[in-house]
Amino acid sequence: MSYDRYEALYLLRNSSAQTLDIGDYESEPSENNAFQECLNWARRHWRCLQIKKLPSYRYNPEIRRSNQTFCSVCLENFELNQTVRKLGCSHEFHSQCVDKWLNLKATCPLCRTAPL
Ligand SMILES: [Zn+2]
Ligand SMILES: [Zn+2]
Repeated sequence: MSYDRYEALYLLRNSSAQTLDIGDYESEPSENNAFQECLNWARRHWRCLQIKKLPSYRYNPEIRRSNQTFCSVCLENFELNQTVRKLGCSHEFHSQCVDKWLNLKATCPLCRTAPL
């Protein structure tokens, strides 16, 4: 394993303690492409970790937690036992739909609030 990868892993480990602010690192000039790549890698995983921390639950139409009955990403109804993820803005989506979306955009598909 290269030093860069260790560095990225170190950042990643810090990220689970919520102390990572990669923005500071990005603004530092670096001519080391491998290092930048590792930072990108760490940032992607950091985002994954943050997404996984958002609350989710198994959908059950008999225990309605909100008025939303369908996912605005795929426009399919929520079905029994599907995993639904609730963002900070209270909008709800299939976790598999919104997780993919958040990996690309990091904002709620409906109201553009940043949940991360
Ligand atoms: Zn969906
Ligand atoms: Zn929203």
